[in-house]
Amino acid sequence: MKIAFYGLGNMGSPMARNLLRAGHDVTVWNRTPSKAEGFRSDNAQIAKSVAEAGRDAEIAVTMLADDHAVATVVLEPGGVAEHLAPGGMHVSMSTISVDLSKRLAAEHTRRGQHYVSAPVFGRPEAAAAAKLFVVAAGDPAAIEQAKPVLEAIGQRTFVIGPKPEMANVVKLSGNFLISSVIESLGEAIALVRKYEIDPHEYVDFLTNTLFAAPVYKTYGGIIADERYQPAGFKMRLGLKDVRLVLAAAEAVDAPMPIASLIRDNLLAALGRGMEDLDWSATAKLAADNAGLK
Ligand code: NAP
Repeated sequence: MKIAFYGLGNMGSPMARNLLRAGHDVTVWNRTPSKAEGFRSDNAQIAKSVAEAGRDAEIAVTMLADDHAVATVVLEPGGVAEHLAPGGMHVSMSTISVDLSKRLAAEHTRRGQHYVSAPVFGRPEAAAAAKLFVVAAGDPAAIEQAKPVLEAIGQRTFVIGPKPEMANVVKLSGNFLISSVIESLGEAIALVRKYEIDPHEYVDFLTNTLFAAPVYKTYGGIIADERYQPAGFKMRLGLKDVRLVLAAAEAVDAPMPIASLIRDNLLAALGRGMEDLDWSATAKLAADNAGLK
């Protein structure tokens, strides 16, 4: 398929490479052009502008940081929506708000284009191994058409429903749960460390008994190792997601007090200068509050 891929960050780079490996004809674009240069050796075409990337594309894939980035690249004059041909499709894989997903759906429909919302679960290592979980929503025929793209990127696609924003709600709710696990693991690990229990042995115990889920293994390992750099998922992106969860919750009068607490912890981490660390470094707050080094 002829694909225009926008956003070559921690996630977008390995995803675009997997599309190339699967034999697709991929044109990449990134705001900072130097990040696209490495793709020459992968047989990608490198576009100088958003418009150039989208001109002949059947499918435009966005994997950009946040609402502002996606709205700029897709909806502004010269953007993806303007250059994608009628009948073309936008597959939006970033973690964005419910509101923006609705706006994108309306704009693409108005232009006779298809829109599939397909955010992903999994960190950059999972993206590199094409092991992401894709959560897709939108017109079933469009999702079917997007399958070769989704299958090249992930290990499994879950179709959530016919309204694109449903996938964004599921993604945001999932990130809320992950952030809750990070918070509770941070507190539990600080507690056991105060009793001189080895955090690695403790995580080994947890993840081989009642807490054998990937999220405990990944974040238990990171917190026990205090391995917060390089940041697989940046602190500010974590704050963005928890804010989006709270906005989605507020829109339907669904209080989420734990999300409010986590939002404040992420702010505290940023306030303490942890901007360049992984979002799981909020566990350092629990350790610091317990007086641990
Ligand atoms: P990242 O490494 O920070 O990359 C962000 C990308 O967005 C870069 O290509 C950046 O371009 C681009 N960008 C930022 N602001 C822009 C703007 N105003 N206009 C145009 N482009 C802009 O982020 P990431 O970790 O790849 O995450 C990408 C998306 O996936 C986010 O929505 C994130 O929440 C989601 N996600 C991340 C993970 C993870 O573990 N990292 C997992 C699942 C989902 P430059 O290179 O020019 O800065």
